[in-house]
Amino acid sequence: MDPKRKSNLIVSIASGKGGTGKTTVSASLACVWKKPVLAVDLDVEEPNLHLFLNPEISHQEKIYLETPVVDESKCTLCRMCSDLCQFQAIKVMGETLLTFTEMCHGCGGCLAICPEKALSPGQRELGILSQGSSLGKISFLMGSLRVGEAMSPPLMTIVKKRMMEILGKERADAIIDAPPGVSCPAVCAVMDSDLIILVTEPTPFGFHDFRLAWESFSSMGKPMAVVINRAGLGDSSVYRFCDEKKLPILASIPYDRNIAQAYSKGQVVARLSPELEHKFSDLARELQGYDREAAYA
Ligand code: SF4
Ligand code: SF4
Repeated sequence: MDPKRKSNLIVSIASGKGGTGKTTVSASLACVWKKPVLAVDLDVEEPNLHLFLNPEISHQEKIYLETPVVDESKCTLCRMCSDLCQFQAIKVMGETLLTFTEMCHGCGGCLAICPEKALSPGQRELGILSQGSSLGKISFLMGSLRVGEAMSPPLMTIVKKRMMEILGKERADAIIDAPPGVSCPAVCAVMDSDLIILVTEPTPFGFHDFRLAWESFSSMGKPMAVVINRAGLGDSSVYRFCDEKKLPILASIPYDRNIAQAYSKGQVVARLSPELEHKFSDLARELQGYDREAAYA
């Protein structure tokens, strides 16, 4: 763990599939968090945390990835760049060096290795980073992937870098709304967090994807806990699995028509009733009291 940010807690709210209530939990936690908090939407393909937190956006910038541009007059077709690129984004084909900009991950390796200085940095637009604040107490950060952009991790990496800068300055904790699923973007979102909260519903489909998420994230060795949404639906599979794997269930949000309606209107669930506010405050307290030093000892 980075010693510079030992006092900041980073909690990722993740789920094996979309529609489990991950954003509901993220927004509610941000609203009841007692310390300074930064709410981060890393679900850059479909960000929607802002719909609940209604932040005032004070800063927006386009984010670009550095991609290689070839100067054919200098290129000797030595293939050093194409042999190096593990993403097949630059290739010698016959007597031509081709670049496939959309496949480039912007690692800069080809630019560094070219002995002829035949490559120079170009740009591909990844999306937009937005920064602001909500309710006068929640700092807010969001990445939005450009329509047509295939790769979200490069934008997510830049949003996470900004998150770390803000955490360093504000001494805040971070709540990350991670993308659903278990693919690269989901792993990229949770990999810097101290704790992963898996949100699931106790249905057979919910359990299937929840188990995949647990299997995928547990290889990172990070502490995980569970929030059950729509408790009362489905069966006992999720509960039995948590019991077997010693995964703590920190909160259960009941299956309730009013909650579903509030969600569809963009209302924060923790604000719906004193009971729900207590539930999320208890969850926040539990997370804030988490002893990271012990977990990483
Ligand atoms: S490393 Fe440089 S000289 Fe060699 S093929 Fe790539 S661009 Fe051309
Ligand atoms: S910057 Fe990296 S990913 Fe992009 S073409 Fe060069 S070596 Fe490949």
